Amino acid sequence: MQLKIDTSKRVELVDITSQVQEEVRKSEIPEGICLISTRHTTAGIIINENETGLKDDIMDLLNRLVPASAGYRHDLLDNNADSHLRAVLLGASEGLPVSEGKLELGTWQRIFFAEMDGPRSRTVNVTLLRAERYKE
Ligand code: ZN
Repeated sequence: MQLKIDTSKRVELVDITSQVQEEVRKSEIPEGICLISTRHTTAGIIINENETGLKDDIMDLLNRLVPASAGYRHDLLDNNADSHLRAVLLGASEGLPVSEGKLELGTWQRIFFAEMDGPRSRTVNVTLLRAERYKE
């Protein structure tokens, strides 16, 4: 299934944990794998803590690693090379175990859609695989 996300800034971390958890609940899968992926080339999926200072630190890190308008070839085409390059560093998917019907997330872990070229209307795919039960 697909989540729809409307981002409001050029660079933004959107916490999508509760939407993903709701899809896991509706699936009624007790044990398995949940894959969270995005088909966009200027966005990513990451897992980390939802703390305001840390989110700003992540943005600062991306700015330091991939400054805007640093002479990129792709900027000649549509002027958003930094967005693509940041998305490369973040990755387009995350996989999580589903156990006893719930996502296996640590206490402080949250799932983020990482917008690198907003604001835009975006989609995130949530794919659930049920694990077979093996007899001992
Ligand atoms: Zn582009």
